[in-house]
Amino acid sequence: EQQSEVQSEVQRLLRPDLRGRTAYGAPQLDVAVCLNTNENSYPVPAHVVEAILAALAEEMAGLNRYPDRDFTELRKALTAYLEKQSGVSVTPDQVWAGNGSNEVLSHIVQAFGGPGRTALGFTPSYSMHPIISETLGTTWVDGLRGTGEPDTFDLSAESAVEQARLHRPSIVFLCSPNNPTGTALPFEVIGAVLDAAPDAIVVVDEAYAEFARPGTRSALTLLADHPRLVVTRTMSKAFAFAGGRLGYLVASAELVDALRLVRLPYHLSSPTQTIARVALEHADDMLGTVEVIKHQRDRIVEVLAQLGATPVASDSNFVLFGGLADEKATWQALLDAGVLVRDVGIAHHLRVTAGDPDETTAFLEAMTRLAPDHL
Ligand code: PMP
Repeated sequence: EQQSEVQSEVQRLLRPDLRGRTAYGAPQLDVAVCLNTNENSYPVPAHVVEAILAALAEEMAGLNRYPDRDFTELRKALTAYLEKQSGVSVTPDQVWAGNGSNEVLSHIVQAFGGPGRTALGFTPSYSMHPIISETLGTTWVDGLRGTGEPDTFDLSAESAVEQARLHRPSIVFLCSPNNPTGTALPFEVIGAVLDAAPDAIVVVDEAYAEFARPGTRSALTLLADHPRLVVTRTMSKAFAFAGGRLGYLVASAELVDALRLVRLPYHLSSPTQTIARVALEHADDMLGTVEVIKHQRDRIVEVLAQLGATPVASDSNFVLFGGLADEKATWQALLDAGVLVRDVGIAHHLRVTAGDPDETTAFLEAMTRLAPDHL
């Protein structure tokens, strides 16, 4: 009883707009096959582990000092990686990093959103975009996608432009490839939104860019002409470094400079800067599993379609699939079979991460067994 008294006291003191909310987060369960948070299933290669440990050993005695506040070496490493991965050259002062891309997204909202301002996103999309916006006092507008065929969740340039003109946002969130639907945006949407929202920072969240199907063009290629554009990326997905907590963004040097107004000093610890820098030096090895994972993703789409489900085309390391009679029952039945997937709150749909071939097989065999009763 005492506990519930304290609980109601906390609720009384809490910011009114936070009362009764529940915290974001997928269940972290101890399950054989974890395909619920879009991680890369493969461990960090042994020789990269060794290189990281050697670099850390040299630095531990220096932990009495604060880290480099401007993470200079890490920025250079990110610049080199981006050039290699996307062919786009940027300078280190155009790159900003944080503890996961969630943190760099929060820096953008702290600097460009806030009370009296509006952020617009197109739902369903990454659910942290509204959470970060609202917890930082920004009004969130849930824009719509999917004017096309049912279940494709497409966003057309025409629809995005109309919604951006209507809501006059300070920030627009685009997500390409989009989580949880998986598909990359038509490239023209980005430029069209930049034109239609002249007072907005336009964020393109490219957390899954490295998994995109051939022919997908990155928003990085637009940066040179658009000082209001921000492209965010992460080492958590293709790079197989989710536990390292390193996300980053690329924008104009002036926009990046403004983010220094809101970041906490020394937000990136010395070990974080070091492990990320060394991992980036081994980028080819860290990304060595991307093709296998893309293949598993395509396999999931193919087999689920054969079973009669409706998988959405994916440029990511996960697949959203519909056609389920009761997604909660299927989620539980998969868990009972030792496979954890994600209920993203879309009726009749679940999202599954493409794992290694064995994990993918475990999921597909379970779905094959369940199909007669669940689809
Ligand atoms: N953006 C998108 C679209 C994501 O799906 C995720 C991870 N779920 C993130 C950003 C954040 O990832 P991290 O903070 O690990 O970089």
